[in-house]
Amino acid sequence: MTYRLRSIFSSLQGEGRNTGMPATFIRFAGCNLNCPWCDTRKHTKEMLSLSEITREVEKRKNRAVIITGGEPTIVIGLKDLLLALKARGHWLALETNGTRNIPEIELFDYVAVSPKYFYRNRYAENTMVRKADEVRIVAEDEAMVGFCRQMRERIEAKDYFISPLEEGGKIHYRRAFNLLLKLNSAPKTGGEAPWPPWSLSIQTHKVLGIK
Ligand code: SF4
Repeated sequence: MTYRLRSIFSSLQGEGRNTGMPATFIRFAGCNLNCPWCDTRKHTKEMLSLSEITREVEKRKNRAVIITGGEPTIVIGLKDLLLALKARGHWLALETNGTRNIPEIELFDYVAVSPKYFYRNRYAENTMVRKADEVRIVAEDEAMVGFCRQMRERIEAKDYFISPLEEGGKIHYRRAFNLLLKLNSAPKTGGEAPWPPWSLSIQTHKVLGIK
């Protein structure tokens, strides 16, 4: 069994609740979506076997391993890799776009879902991820309040974050902040403002210019 990867590297988690956590990132190639701002396609690809991946992970000496992409839930043989990493005592986190709820998701210690407004019609209630530790939504458009609220209704999580969009080297902080202001207000149709409130997640690694 071989896996198509963009890279394996050691860094600090740059976003969400675990910001600052040292981890080894396994970044898979390939995704079932094709977001216009996606920057993962510009990285080169390599094919590695399961034992080559575990060897690379062991070299980096981090307990936490973050499985990201691309979209890890489309990877054939994902379960075998997760079991091999678990057997070596690793804490496993998944970063997914949330369109596919797979049984292997139960093997993760932490799940971060990042639904994409651009592909909002791909989030069917019966096939999408319905439970996670955190939901992180990129602020693609200030008009996506309804989408964010719908994702919050559909995905049970402890934390809900909005992240600024990075496009062509520019990070749109103002757009993210305006979206947060709208999301954390009480709906005009009645009811209370959400609790816990939506939080801001900065992609710290991009601000610092690290991997
Ligand atoms: S879901 Fe993520 S990896 Fe897939 S195309 Fe969009 S930004 Fe890229």
